[in-house]
Amino acid sequence: MKVIIRSGIVAVLLFVFNTLKSIGQDGQIARPRCVTGSVMEKYFLQHPREKLDFDKIQLDFQQRYEALRRAKQSNPSLKRLNTVVTIPVVVHVVMDDPSLVTDEQVQSQMDVLNADYSGNNADSVNIPAAFKPFFGKGNIRFCLAQRSPTDEPTNGIIRKVSSTTSIPGPADPVKYSSMGGSDTWNVNKYLNIWVCKMTDLNDLGYSFMPGLSGLTSSDIGLVNAYHAFGTVGSAKSPFNKGRTATHEIGHFFNLWHVWGANECVSSCFDSDFVDDTPNQDQCTYGTPSFPQTDACTNMAPGIMFMNFMDYVDDATMCLFTEGQVDRMETALSTLSDRVQLMNSNGCVPPVVHDQDVKAVTIVSPSYADVHCQSGLLPKLRIENLGSKTLTSIKLNVVIDEGSPAVTVINLNLPTLQETVLTGNAITVASGYHAIRMYTTEPNGATDGQPGNDTASGVFSIIGNSGSPLTEGFESSAYPPSGWGIANNSDLVSFNPVRATNAAHSGNASVKFDNYNFQLFGRQSLLVSPQMAVPDQADSVKITFWRAAAQYSSLHSDTLEILISGDCGQTYTSVYKKGGADLKTRAGFTEIEFVPGAGEWVADTVDISNLVKGRYDQVMVQFRNINGYGNNLYLDDINIYARTLSPRLKEQGYLIAPNPTTGVLNIQHYPSTTGLRGVAVYSSTGQLVWKESYTVSAAGNNIAINLSRVAAGLYIVRLVYADRVVTRKVLKL
Ligand SMILES: [Zn+2]
Repeated sequence: MKVIIRSGIVAVLLFVFNTLKSIGQDGQIARPRCVTGSVMEKYFLQHPREKLDFDKIQLDFQQRYEALRRAKQSNPSLKRLNTVVTIPVVVHVVMDDPSLVTDEQVQSQMDVLNADYSGNNADSVNIPAAFKPFFGKGNIRFCLAQRSPTDEPTNGIIRKVSSTTSIPGPADPVKYSSMGGSDTWNVNKYLNIWVCKMTDLNDLGYSFMPGLSGLTSSDIGLVNAYHAFGTVGSAKSPFNKGRTATHEIGHFFNLWHVWGANECVSSCFDSDFVDDTPNQDQCTYGTPSFPQTDACTNMAPGIMFMNFMDYVDDATMCLFTEGQVDRMETALSTLSDRVQLMNSNGCVPPVVHDQDVKAVTIVSPSYADVHCQSGLLPKLRIENLGSKTLTSIKLNVVIDEGSPAVTVINLNLPTLQETVLTGNAITVASGYHAIRMYTTEPNGATDGQPGNDTASGVFSIIGNSGSPLTEGFESSAYPPSGWGIANNSDLVSFNPVRATNAAHSGNASVKFDNYNFQLFGRQSLLVSPQMAVPDQADSVKITFWRAAAQYSSLHSDTLEILISGDCGQTYTSVYKKGGADLKTRAGFTEIEFVPGAGEWVADTVDISNLVKGRYDQVMVQFRNINGYGNNLYLDDINIYARTLSPRLKEQGYLIAPNPTTGVLNIQHYPSTTGLRGVAVYSSTGQLVWKESYTVSAAGNNIAINLSRVAAGLYIVRLVYADRVVTRKVLKL
């Protein structure tokens, strides 16, 4: 079942929520800072029964919170958190150019959070005197993570080059590498912040509140628009004081908006469930001056619009109240989906060993492309996590769990630097293989942390084939012998697969899944073996059957075919169809496409002029380019080189076979120009077959079926404009 929410559907939902957005105090259409309210509303629409669980969790919580507040009346210094608790933060910058959000900008946001949550923010001097007694100074602090989930050193900042934008709600693409985002770090150890572009550019951010028992843990954390993050760099006025994250982390720790638990609807009957914030009618925008009164609080000092949980501009916000701080700290210390953060060691750098080599990723052979059999150079990217400079290392390469091929490599790699190790060339049989690469004996010693020394992967080696090359994907062995599959996304599973629920002929075909993968522009490949092309080949062609559907005008995919005469060193594009040109089912198809028998279309690509006389072998790459559209299927691929008879080329025509048992073929070369007619007579002069080509020209191959005439000698007569050719043929 498709669980991904497409932007088209979301746009409809956003429209509904937009109708709730209200007019600001200055009379202009106001921009809501935060979409937490609509995200929660959307979540409960999708999970109605969970609303009851949530209400129960919130009721229990409220009782604990109010008990604390009552106890504080007699003991004002009582705190829910008696000591400072520092929450490890990982910042995922997911942008076309993530370097726009610099380390300095990330640090500026951390500084704002620590100032705001401790009540040490310089602009707290702006708190009106009437509200100063309520100013909350809490014990929650934040650090950039110092160790990764796998206990490696980190600066807590991940940058991912991607055009993926946030779609607020469950399964937000920015939180999933499968959708072009960056995968969530363990939410029990880290507060995840995604800094990115929002699909609706007016949104600044959101966070799910705690107590959603059915929420996928990968969805926990906050999304923060890149132009409203930190105080420098890409942060833009009036959202450049870091208060979007301050506000959203308030939601993360169970604060409602200061006007109540609704989407900025005018009401004095709803509440933020905090006892020291004045009752407030609805949200406040811009830069109002103090005091402001409204229908719910009509006396000075009025409403607390300068609270971090209102919608005013960053520079106008300046406080949480003591009641809000108690609420957040009660959430952190008692709610099951937050409390484990208190025990995280994410702020503590990991132990550093003298020698600690980390295998980062296999560079070659990778699953992003197919490879040829000989001269394969294994390449492994490593990082030196040890405190000592790395001067020697053994690289071990294991194919399909065979014995390792070992290369000793001398290098000079300082601490926390990366490099690519290249092993000795290996030769691997054609097929789909598993590979494991690992390092041993760094500096001749034992690696202090052997658990991170290995990287594993899969890859395709292309085989060789004679002509013709036919493939119908009927064998359960997949990819077919000699063929390769590959893709350049982060997911091996995006490779084309054998489909047994669709076929042009037989029972199977190959499927490129564009329906379940949102990987715009990423390519998945099916690559043929290298087919031998005879020196004298006169024509080389690719024929195949395709079936495809288009999801929408915004979501369509592309099939491109490329050929290579040098096993993938260089490619030439010979075919490209996308969207409406590619689809074989009319209209748009919003359910997962499985073609019916009538939804297959044949294609032929003539590559003769690109291949003959130039290459002695050719491989063909079928390249699917994802547009998050719908599935593309291929079947009955036929790649062949044809060599004409020397006699045909010499005399311009050929009558074969002779003798024949049935069909007689008359071929012409280079064309049938001048041919007026063909007739076949028996030896007694009786006409048995005749065709005239005076109105329309004959094709280069004329097939004459003689299976029903008696055995014996026949005369074939070819009549041209300038001559007549007569040949004897024996029918057996
Ligand atoms: Zn909010």
